[in-house]
Parts: sequence; C-alpha cells; structure tokens
Amino acid sequence: MRVTEKLQKLISEGAPTEHIKEAAVEEGMQTLLSYSLDLVRQGYTTLDEVERVTFTDTGLEAELKSRRKASLTCSCCNAELQQEWLDCPYCLTPRFHD
Ligand SMILES: [Zn+2]
Repeated sequence: MRVTEKLQKLISEGAPTEHIKEAAVEEGMQTLLSYSLDLVRQGYTTLDEVERVTFTDTGLEAELKSRRKASLTCSCCNAELQQEWLDCPYCLTPRFHD
C-alpha cells in the first residue's frame, strides 16, 4: 500500500504502532471505496454490491475478477467479448445484468 502523507506524518511524529495501523486501515478503506466507485461508474458493478463487499470483507477484488471473467462470454450467443464492450455486438445482449 502507498504510504500517504497522513501516515508519513504519524510515523515521523513517532505515533504508537496501533495508531498508525488504524490510520492505515482507514486510508486503505478510502482507496478501496474510491476504486469501487470507479467500477460502478464503468458499469462493472452496482452500488449495492460495493456497499456489501466493501464493508463486509476483502472479497471485492476476487468477486469483480470472476465477474469480469465470466462476462467475457455472451450469456446469449456465447460469443467471445472484449473487456471494454458493454454489450454483445452479435446479438446485442448487455454484458451486465441487473
Ligand atoms: Zn451475444
């Protein structure tokens, strides 16, 4: 993880390890959240999904990965799709449901 200004400050101030750890988790959560919101914007996931995985466990990466992998095949005609396509060009079925 990238060491942020906030963390650097805490470390240089000689803050207790627990304090630094807490701040690191906090910053990590923020990074994960903004990353997740980017994915929502790109249509890879939904806000509900982000809320569920961001605040429950670290399964976000794995879940998104499997989801993206699975969606590379058209659910209607089984054609191979490109990562950036929003729907199947052959049968016009959207890659993302819900
Ligand atoms: Zn198709």
